[in-house]
Amino acid sequence: MVSTAATAASNLTDEAIQQFAGSIRGGVIRPGDPNYDEARKIYNAMIDKRPALIARCTDAGDVIAAVNFARENDLLVAIRGGGHNGPGLGTCDDGLVIDLSGIKYVRVDPVARTARVGGGALLGDVDHATRAFGFVIPSGIISTTGVGGITLGGGVGHLTRTFGLSIDNLLEADVVLADGSFVTASKDQNADLFWALRGGGGNFGVVTSFLFRLNSLGDVYAGPMLWDIDKATEVLKWYRDFIVNAPDEVNGWFAFLTVPPVAPFPEHLQGKKMCGVVWCYAGPQADGEAALAPARAAFGTPALDWVGPMPYSALNSMFDGIYPAGHQWYWKADFFNELSDEAIARHVEFGNALPTIPSTMHLYPINGRAGRVGNDETAWAYRDANWAQVMVGVSPDPADNANMIAWAKAYWEALHPHSAGGAYVNMMMDEGADRVRASYGENYTKLATVKAKYDPNNLFRVNQNIKPAAG
Ligand SMILES: Cc1cc2nc3c(=O)[nH]c(=O)nc-3n(C[C@H](O)[C@H](O)[C@H](O)COP(=O)(O)OP(=O)(O)OC[C@H]3O[C@@H](n4cnc5c(N)ncnc54)[C@H](O)[C@@H]3O)c2cc1C
Repeated sequence: MVSTAATAASNLTDEAIQQFAGSIRGGVIRPGDPNYDEARKIYNAMIDKRPALIARCTDAGDVIAAVNFARENDLLVAIRGGGHNGPGLGTCDDGLVIDLSGIKYVRVDPVARTARVGGGALLGDVDHATRAFGFVIPSGIISTTGVGGITLGGGVGHLTRTFGLSIDNLLEADVVLADGSFVTASKDQNADLFWALRGGGGNFGVVTSFLFRLNSLGDVYAGPMLWDIDKATEVLKWYRDFIVNAPDEVNGWFAFLTVPPVAPFPEHLQGKKMCGVVWCYAGPQADGEAALAPARAAFGTPALDWVGPMPYSALNSMFDGIYPAGHQWYWKADFFNELSDEAIARHVEFGNALPTIPSTMHLYPINGRAGRVGNDETAWAYRDANWAQVMVGVSPDPADNANMIAWAKAYWEALHPHSAGGAYVNMMMDEGADRVRASYGENYTKLATVKAKYDPNNLFRVNQNIKPAAG
């Protein structure tokens, strides 16, 4: 049977498409165009969708035209920022992709200490532009991720304990709504929309620009420290107590990983499964060594210790080479309040069974500054949790998929009973309405009401979807 999206797309006349293409400054790409296959590619090669149209937007005018065209022609719409989303929610089959990759400016205002960031900018664009002025915006750990998706979902990374989630630094967003109107959301304008945008994902409209508050930060004292996987139980038990009680300047996420079999990794470690913490001390440089001394002392000399002074932008792109676009990815996630001894025992079991070299498990601390925001102050509902956990099966080879998906699912099932219930929406696959509801917890009802006000017909539904509340 032909899907509704395909029917709507096939009803478009050539004339209508030509007219639409003429209204988009960045151009419209269609199946058969020489650049179609390149333009429809996203970061996760496990997802292979074929949109009917890709609108390459260059400004809010293009976005307004695209939203109006989609609504008037009943087209399925996907919003693409950086294209990194795990389940590929930046694209769709048979619909219109609103591709924001052409809107990637960053304008730093050093006097107001703010940065205006285009809706399709990448984290690396922001890190580069802000570093020149000695500022940062907290975000994720891979610089090719899109500011749009990561921010609207929350934004967890190297600086979460020091400066909060990305959304805690958001002051304002310009949004094209489902009816084609353009509004600004902030604490003073459309405050309900501003609340929902901070964690509610792309459910409410297309954000054409973000205004962030800037934080002063010189170089960080940062990098990975690795230990033999035989020490994982000890390391995890020490880590859980250390990070929860550490000052806000200390960030460090735990990982199970396999050392890549390439330089510059030491030959004797290449291909070994290990555990480690990627640190980021964001206080005065002179204090970094003392702040992380307990980690160096706890289990003897780490097997690899690459912690030292570096620009935040260097830390934030350190792993880009290990994770290039085009690998197969399968994600499973949950929030955790505690790491019990029993949970640690399960972690160690599955950490020892990483199915491929790039597969990994990360525990991101979300306490410190991020944990001092109330659960209902933004749409992000798990401020009282201590960790956002993600296990990802990753491989360049689709032949590994069955094995790595089975590992990620079994690992998740073993840990889920210890979890807080929901997951960080940016680290989930497409797991259905119940998981979305669980992930917004007590904020779901209010989100559904805001959705009904700003997108009553659920035009923006290619996302971790919040259904509009019934009227
Ligand atoms: C290698 C890798 C590393 C990652 N590391 C981290 C990390 O450290 N911390 C973290 O928090 N997350 C991380 N993530 C997850 C990441 O936050 C999500 O994948 C996020 O969806 C990526 O955003 P994007 O704009 O690149 O994605 P896209 O695929 O382009 O978009 C995803 C969704 O975001 C929405 N969206 C994007 N831009 C806009 C916009 N301007 N307006 C409205 N809606 C928009 C849309 O609903 C879309 O469905 C990582 C992902 C990958 C693949």
